[in-house]
Amino acid sequence: MIHGEIHQNVRQYINGRWETSATTGVSANPSDTSEVVAEYARADRRQVESAIRAAADAFSHWSHSTPQRRADVLDRIGTELLARKDELGLLLAREVGKTLPEAVAEAARAGQVFKFFAGEALRGGGENMASLRAGVQVDVTREPVGVAGLITPWNSPLAVPATKIAPALAHGNCVVFKPAELVPACGWTLAEIISRAALPAGVFNLVMGSGREAGQALVDSPLVDALSFTGSARNGERILQAAAARRAKVQLEMGGKNALVVLADADIDHAVDCAVQGAYFSNGQRCTASSRLIVEAAVHDAFVSRLRERLKALKIGHALERGVDVGPLVDEERLARSLAWVGIAREEGAEHVWGGEPLQRATAGHYMSPALFLAQPGHRIAREEIFGPLACVLRAADYDEALALCNDTPSGLSAGICTNSLKHAMHFRRHAEVGMTMVNLPTAGVDFHAPFGGRKGSGYGPREQGRHAAEFYTTVKTGYMLA
Ligand code: NAD
Repeated sequence: MIHGEIHQNVRQYINGRWETSATTGVSANPSDTSEVVAEYARADRRQVESAIRAAADAFSHWSHSTPQRRADVLDRIGTELLARKDELGLLLAREVGKTLPEAVAEAARAGQVFKFFAGEALRGGGENMASLRAGVQVDVTREPVGVAGLITPWNSPLAVPATKIAPALAHGNCVVFKPAELVPACGWTLAEIISRAALPAGVFNLVMGSGREAGQALVDSPLVDALSFTGSARNGERILQAAAARRAKVQLEMGGKNALVVLADADIDHAVDCAVQGAYFSNGQRCTASSRLIVEAAVHDAFVSRLRERLKALKIGHALERGVDVGPLVDEERLARSLAWVGIAREEGAEHVWGGEPLQRATAGHYMSPALFLAQPGHRIAREEIFGPLACVLRAADYDEALALCNDTPSGLSAGICTNSLKHAMHFRRHAEVGMTMVNLPTAGVDFHAPFGGRKGSGYGPREQGRHAAEFYTTVKTGYMLA
């Protein structure tokens, strides 16, 4: 496999200028670890603070810019992302190990998100209300919040940042964006496109660095008015404590232990498709991955044996190879963690069905076979987020037990049901304790313009995506006027 270009100029973007840092890091291709993807500058606390000050200084100007101006900027960014989706998809596949079709789709989605919020910038979103008093008019307007600190994970390095940056700018906020350390080239490329969209200096800033230093500086700064974080529950909880103490607005999008329920009346082949896509595509490295497959007893054995056959047939390999279904895990640490979960599953007595082995391929990458176990509800593999290619099947006597198992988790992001019963589908939509329900669809795979987020331990604060994003990126002002 031929190596791609090394991105060597990956620097911070602060107050309209590209800046180097005292320390540097590299990102490597998880499909072929001999390939360096980017050499990048790692921001320290001082650089993050200077980016925050630049954003705070730019706010009074940008927050009063015309909606048309903001719409034009967002439209331009969206147009470039869409026009370059193949090239950006290739970069994403090299840096994260998603297969090329998935990576190109993600790059296109990022473009669509910017286009969508170009429209939202023009739409406004106020409200006129009747007053209790004669001659008085009441209206509700939405105003930008201020400086938005946006902290993102590595697993969707273009779409997740776009989902935060686009609404923040559309609604008149200034941005300091901190991507995950594993994906500097994706974060920088997005920032480079944004930097050419005629934004005033300071409105958009990029800081790359560790969570502990660069991320924490955003969390601690009294100049950051709104913090949007997507990542692990552990870090999200810490951020919530720190941000709440200084009364910043906080939005957390965290992990899940998402269940796919399969009832006896379902189309079993379709249910197996949903399980394969939901649990194993992108190696289960998705917040919405179906890591629990809750199957009604009458079809349990048939489902497990068909799923096993599908897993055996999956092609695991270099993310850029044609016909590959699943690429590598993102790094050595995540591969080791997923393999350790296989050990935990065995130790706690879960029945091994398939996979869970490290794999050798032509290039040195972080490959493993997708793992499937039969588990009991108390097993750790049935309770904790794994974020790797390991799913477990839980047997349920009937629909009621399946729903109870589905809700028996501290998280609540996405849940799916495969059934031909309208009654059960409708009941499930109402009673699944999650932010998103799926009927006859995988738990992963959402539209970019519909509200996204979870309940319980999976989320905090207003929803992301679409028109609902205004809740987080604006503050409401009520006006009374005697006319
Ligand atoms: P992570 O929590 O390790 O890191 C996420 C981001 O937070 C990174 O940019 C990191 O540098 C930063 N960070 C870490 N510690 C910080 C701190 N103390 N202060 C400020 N920032 C800090 O998560 P990850 O491993 O990158 O991503 C995987 C997790 O993300 C999984 O749990 C997954 O479910 C979740 N996720 C959720 C969604 C969603 O929308 N709900 C989407 C994708 C991923």
